[in-house]
Amino acid sequence: MEKRQELYRGKAKTVYTTDDPAYLVMHYRDDTSAFDGAKIAQLAMKGETNNRFNAFIMEQLAAAGVGTHFVKLLNERESLVKNLKMIPIECVVRNVVAGSMAKRLGLSEGMPLVNPVFEFFYKSDALHDPMVNDYHILALGWASAADIEAMKTLTFKVNGVLKPLFAQAGLTLVDYKLEFGREAAKPQAPLLLGDEFTPDGCRLWDSSSQEKMDKDRFRRDLGNVIEAYREVGRRIGVPL
Ligand code: ADP
Ligand code: UDP
Repeated sequence: MEKRQELYRGKAKTVYTTDDPAYLVMHYRDDTSAFDGAKIAQLAMKGETNNRFNAFIMEQLAAAGVGTHFVKLLNERESLVKNLKMIPIECVVRNVVAGSMAKRLGLSEGMPLVNPVFEFFYKSDALHDPMVNDYHILALGWASAADIEAMKTLTFKVNGVLKPLFAQAGLTLVDYKLEFGREAAKPQAPLLLGDEFTPDGCRLWDSSSQEKMDKDRFRRDLGNVIEAYREVGRRIGVPL
């Protein structure tokens, strides 16, 4: 597989075409951003840490029956993925109150939930990723009713796999964000998990000390951001 031209430069990753239109190269940069790109920095080792972390998680999910875009690691900072037509929606599951849910509802972070909460957000930095529901998604043609159901089912299935995986490593999976898409040339094929699963897109707290081990360390200037990502990775068995 030969890497060709840059297709899209996002806030943390650059996507390249390849000589096969069904596949893309995902390059993990050291760039990190928060607040819809308003706060930006470079953190040494972030690219290779997240590339390996994501590969490990995607392999765990695939083994548990969650189809993903991940094909293989190519090198320290790059992975080969299937080229997906992405649904412009972020799917969030919360096991514990934190972040925007705490703010929106005036709740304290760390409050336990009787059952996990599912939320949809429209992916738009310009609009600050507004929360939407099933009706918005259907009415605006972003996804079909079947795809909405599949996104919910798959996002909860991921919770069933990853909550215990992190718990065994002494970590609480507080919340996470997933994005889905479908292989461009296969409109009838099932939805696949795309993008990434790394501490950039989830909250993980040490189960004993409640210490934050995720991107909140960057958002809140707590320091040792990548050290924490790597500590999480080592605890769950990512070869870092
Ligand atoms: P952002 O666009 O939010 O700044 P990134 O820097 O992570 O995020 O860029 C990655 C982009 O690639 C995202 O827009 C994401 O939706 C998209 N993407 C992720 N996986 C795939 C895939 N398999 N095929 C096509 N696009 C993808
Ligand atoms: N998240 C993300 N990308 C986004 C928005 C949220 O990866 O554009 C993740 C975030 O890291 C957290 C979860 O989704 O793990 C829920 O985020 P929340 O709605 O609480 O927003 P935040 O407080 O992170 O802005």
